[in-house]
Amino acid sequence: MKIRIVGAGPAGLCFASLMKRADRSHDIAIVERSPRDATWGFGVVFSDRALEFLRADDEALVRELAPHFESWPRIAIVHDGTRVPVAGNGFSSIGRLQLLTLLHRHVEGLGVPIRFDAEATSLAGFADADVVVAADGAFSSIRGAREAAFGTTVDWRPNRFIWYGTTKAFDSLTLTFRRTAHGVFCAHHYRYAPDRSTFLVEVTEPTWQRAGFERMDERETLAACERAFAADLEGHPILSNRSHWRRFPAVWNERWSTGNVVLLGDALRTAHFSIGSGTRLAMEDAVALAKAFAACGNDVPAALARFQAERLPPVRKICDAANASLRWYEQMDERVSALDPLEFAYSYMTRTGRVDHAEVRRLDPALAAAYEARHPQAAA
Ligand SMILES: Cc1cc2nc3c(=O)[nH]c(=O)nc-3n(C[C@H](O)[C@H](O)[C@H](O)COP(=O)(O)OP(=O)(O)OC[C@H]3O[C@@H](n4cnc5c(N)ncnc54)[C@H](O)[C@@H]3O)c2cc1C
Repeated sequence: MKIRIVGAGPAGLCFASLMKRADRSHDIAIVERSPRDATWGFGVVFSDRALEFLRADDEALVRELAPHFESWPRIAIVHDGTRVPVAGNGFSSIGRLQLLTLLHRHVEGLGVPIRFDAEATSLAGFADADVVVAADGAFSSIRGAREAAFGTTVDWRPNRFIWYGTTKAFDSLTLTFRRTAHGVFCAHHYRYAPDRSTFLVEVTEPTWQRAGFERMDERETLAACERAFAADLEGHPILSNRSHWRRFPAVWNERWSTGNVVLLGDALRTAHFSIGSGTRLAMEDAVALAKAFAACGNDVPAALARFQAERLPPVRKICDAANASLRWYEQMDERVSALDPLEFAYSYMTRTGRVDHAEVRRLDPALAAAYEARHPQAAA
């Protein structure tokens, strides 16, 4: 089969790797608009569970990535200075640039060419392809030109976030909530290399307005965030990588393919970073599409239909959880004020509706017991 992939992100690279390993005779090529060493952002995380899934489907890839992971066994919630450790949630992380560099090497080693600095503005160059994979990210232009056919919706969420790094090596994935004169500032932070952590700052729209971020330049914005989290950063600087405030686009598509063009990864659907699964989901999409081809051979319409039928139920579940999670953050000011640190951590744990009290007890018996002491009905 002649397979053309737009976008050398985790989705496109993973799909190329799986298809080439399944059948060396496939003619696969990737076009990527950025230069080879371009990067944005800092690290990405995988839960232990996500890695287990990935390992089951692509052991060779996980083996290559594993030595580069930073891992920790628990997370922590910091409620205005009070730290509540939460057990049972293991995570690993890796720098996004490192992940992509390893994936480039892996895919090129299999004989799949990646053409960098090559933007695909239309499908004109792919007329003779059997299948075209649009793995070109949340703002996919391939999807944008066919929105009606895909049934695309984009729900722009109101919170503002900015993706920074820092030289402080945090010892666990931590969600830090700090009350300021303008409202609550939240940082999602985790170590992804021995001397680097991701440090993503999120605020509600009213807090963003009150803090005056609209009128600040890059340097002033960074300084304001450093001030808000001075006690947590302990003198370490925040690092910017052309970082700027964004709003999260919740992307969904009713139809995942049209003709021989199929959406993959963030082009297909986004999942809020607070469930830490965008990269993992992109890679699992790739696994599902490759499995659909394994089942249907070169019958492209059958494979694309099977891909959506098989992958839709788990994707819907995780997107529902991600959407519940992002809404929880949209109410964080009210929650920080109304709840004490223990109740707040419990609310965080159960925010997606997928973790009930029995699951909290399984993950962290001490937290569940402390909660039951105040709410005996929870134990019933
Ligand atoms: C602030 C923030 C924090 C995040 N944190 C995490 C995290 O902690 N953990 C996690 O797992 N995920 C995280 N993510 C999400 C993660 O980065 C994405 O979900 C993941 O990279 C999606 O992979 P993808 O391959 O679908 O798309 P992308 O990684 O976006 O790759 C798309 C590729 O397509 C290229 N491209 C786009 N248009 C064209 C074109 N016309 N022609 C050629 N090439 C094109 C782009 O240059 C890019 O390389 C975060 C995202 C954001 C914004």
